[in-house]
Amino acid sequence: MSKRIAVIRGDGIGPEIVDATLEVLNYLEVPLEYVFIDAGLARWKREGVPISEKDLEIIEKCDAVLKGPIATPVDRKGYRSVNVLLRRFLDLYANIRFFKSNPLSPVKNLDIVFFRENTEGLYSGVELRPLPGIAISLRVITEHASRRILLRAFKYAVENSRKKVTVVHKANILRETCGLFLETAEEIARDFPQIEVEYSIVDATAYKLIRNPDNFDVIVTTNMFGDILTDEIAALVGSIGLVPACNLGDKYAMFEAVHGAAFDIAGKGIANPIGLMLSAAYMLRYLGFRREADRLENAIWRVLSLGNVLTPDLGGTSTTRELIREVINFLVSDSGHCL
Ligand code: ATP
Repeated sequence: MSKRIAVIRGDGIGPEIVDATLEVLNYLEVPLEYVFIDAGLARWKREGVPISEKDLEIIEKCDAVLKGPIATPVDRKGYRSVNVLLRRFLDLYANIRFFKSNPLSPVKNLDIVFFRENTEGLYSGVELRPLPGIAISLRVITEHASRRILLRAFKYAVENSRKKVTVVHKANILRETCGLFLETAEEIARDFPQIEVEYSIVDATAYKLIRNPDNFDVIVTTNMFGDILTDEIAALVGSIGLVPACNLGDKYAMFEAVHGAAFDIAGKGIANPIGLMLSAAYMLRYLGFRREADRLENAIWRVLSLGNVLTPDLGGTSTTRELIREVINFLVSDSGHCL
């Protein structure tokens, strides 16, 4: 039976990498039906809304969302972040990012799966300026949201034969908010005696990730710490353009690359589509198309191993089109078996 995918092409390099990914998916011959949703900054400029209620109803009825990056400008008053809205609307509380060394990575043996809480923390959206010269952000941490992201990370570790979970916090300073997250983690960890648990303060974690990245396995943390640390780990993989992610809730799933809209290179035809293509591989697996997901990952791996067709962010001079042709060549020539 075919699966319905809501496709959001997004802003900046979004349309280029989404079109590239759909072209590649075509060669896998998976029964996917696409429903295109126009959402983001470009629509907001045109129509005054970045996404409509009707779009959200359509998305709700789909089996998954494949999303290009959507920009959230700093200086546009009245613009609501579509990323935050979709996460809240679909209750996609787990942002899971996969960091694996490839043949081009400056750091070898990296294999980190990162669980970032996606719905609250400093990005709860509760901000005010009560008096001139004073601005306040509320950092909301709930036991409910902490419990479900922590449980997801520990369960993932067990189901995927991972050895260790690192819980990242700053409970020495943020005694209440991080304190609650840490207490919840300690309670949940007791139910997973087979998993080694490490508690690590966020700034020390940032340092240790550079010094000893292969000491990390599964990492779980609150929203903003996760946002910042994952950009750091992306640099260890080689390019932010290579990192895939998924946003999971209990009912819905949305797949997107880790990077943003990258307006500086939009329209130049040189964006790296691999992060989104790898996210699409996770989507295929989520939908039950495991063999096709493996084929796609293998083809990408072979492109990176050969290293003659690479976009500029990877040190090459190739275009997005040339890179996807290379991926498609491998897909067409492979026998359908994993390497
Ligand atoms: P945001 O503010 O939404 O996070 P951004 O574009 O400012 O988005 P990043 O996504 O972190 O920030 O990207 C930083 C830079 O990395 C971009 O400006 C771009 O030069 C480069 N970059 C990001 N994604 C890609 C990609 N897919 N291919 C090539 N270069 C990329």
